[in-house]
Amino acid sequence: MTLTVRTRVAIVGAGPAGLLLSHLLAEAGIESVVVDSRTREEIESTIRAGILEQGTVEILDSLGDHSRARSLGHRHDGIELRVDGEGHRIDFPSLVGRSVWLYPQHEVLTDLIAARLAGGQDLRFGIVAERIDDAETDRPRVVGVDADGQPVVIDAEFVVGADGSRSVVRSTVTGSRFGGHLREYPFAWFGILTEAPPSADELIYSNSPDGFALISQRSATVQRMYFQCDPETDTAAYSEAQLWDELQKRVPGTTLEEGPIFQRDVLRFRSFVAHELRRGRVAIVGDAAHTVPPTGAKGMNLAVADVILLDRAIRSLLLQGDERRIDEFADAARRRIWKAQHFSWWMTSMLHASPDASDFDRLRQRGELRSIVESEAGRTYLAEAYTGWPFATA
Ligand SMILES: Cc1cc2nc3c(=O)[nH]c(=O)nc-3n(C[C@H](O)[C@H](O)[C@H](O)COP(=O)(O)OP(=O)(O)OC[C@H]3O[C@@H](n4cnc5c(N)ncnc54)[C@H](O)[C@@H]3O)c2cc1C
Repeated sequence: MTLTVRTRVAIVGAGPAGLLLSHLLAEAGIESVVVDSRTREEIESTIRAGILEQGTVEILDSLGDHSRARSLGHRHDGIELRVDGEGHRIDFPSLVGRSVWLYPQHEVLTDLIAARLAGGQDLRFGIVAERIDDAETDRPRVVGVDADGQPVVIDAEFVVGADGSRSVVRSTVTGSRFGGHLREYPFAWFGILTEAPPSADELIYSNSPDGFALISQRSATVQRMYFQCDPETDTAAYSEAQLWDELQKRVPGTTLEEGPIFQRDVLRFRSFVAHELRRGRVAIVGDAAHTVPPTGAKGMNLAVADVILLDRAIRSLLLQGDERRIDEFADAARRRIWKAQHFSWWMTSMLHASPDASDFDRLRQRGELRSIVESEAGRTYLAEAYTGWPFATA
């Protein structure tokens, strides 16, 4: 028996992109169904992004009381770039009049799910989308299975792939599972979560002779920190004491507050942009469409920017029968995607020590960092990109 569901917009993926899109569409009276292969509990407990651009927080404000970003999150008015132990603060409000918010992605998802369910939204967990049929017709369909192996078909007027970096919807849009522009990096981040007080009030991005480290915060009692490592590193290869040594030697000038380490992971870096973002009545957004290395904290924020554009395009298509915005969607989204790709690549290449770097490369990198921290124009560019360019308003 196949379970058939009919809706106006079928959204694959209950990550930030898929959930936010369903929320925005509902505000315009457009019904959608969101499916995700994971359970609600898994989605609400997976630790990922932490930095929200100011524009992202403003969009989340439309959830009303369901958004706790301003009450539980922390506004950060700057970051520190540390070069050879010397700290340089990038003060966002004085440079660009904006800030960022530290509010973990799983809390954003918890808020979005609560808001969607309170609004009577059709959210279905444990459903794996396997393929999309009839993409170039007015009735595209998501074909998948539920947790019991029962076939599921979602008949829609538009299908959105918000199914993350291993997207299955992408192959419908680009013609192949990995069709896109790709860059890989010869280093990764070793990330830890520790039960300890904060070591600093704001994020520290440190470039040191031993490689890069990021000292980040989660709450008064839990901290997130990363250090540059080889992508093949085994997370079990380090004792806790060795992990603290690796981190500490990369942030000369700060004594880290140590505590028990209760999570460790290795995060590989990729820059990717799919060759196409839409085919017929199927579009991809967020990590399904692009991924960035985490250094610029752009991934989730870029997903939000895609969704704002796609929401408007789908409204025009389904409410007014106007196809212009959907035809323009991919080009409009790519303008910001490539700016964010550049910024993420630039932060990554400026702050990390490449394993094959020559003395020239290392000294040039110091020159690049100094040309940013010692110049108001340089600091302003960094602040503008980090806090986020304005979202499209028209
Ligand atoms: C450690 C880390 C730190 C990060 N820090 C930041 C940061 O500070 N700021 C920032 O902006 N970004 C950051 N990012 C990136 C950010 O987490 C992602 O860009 C963001 O999650 C993308 O959202 P999305 O909705 O596109 O995809 P995802 O969050 O990946 O959601 C996709 C969803 O689709 C579901 N799915 C996948 N395949 C299927 C299928 N076949 N059928 C049904 N469901 C499916 C998945 O279960 C998942 O729930 C970080 C990422 C990591 C890993």
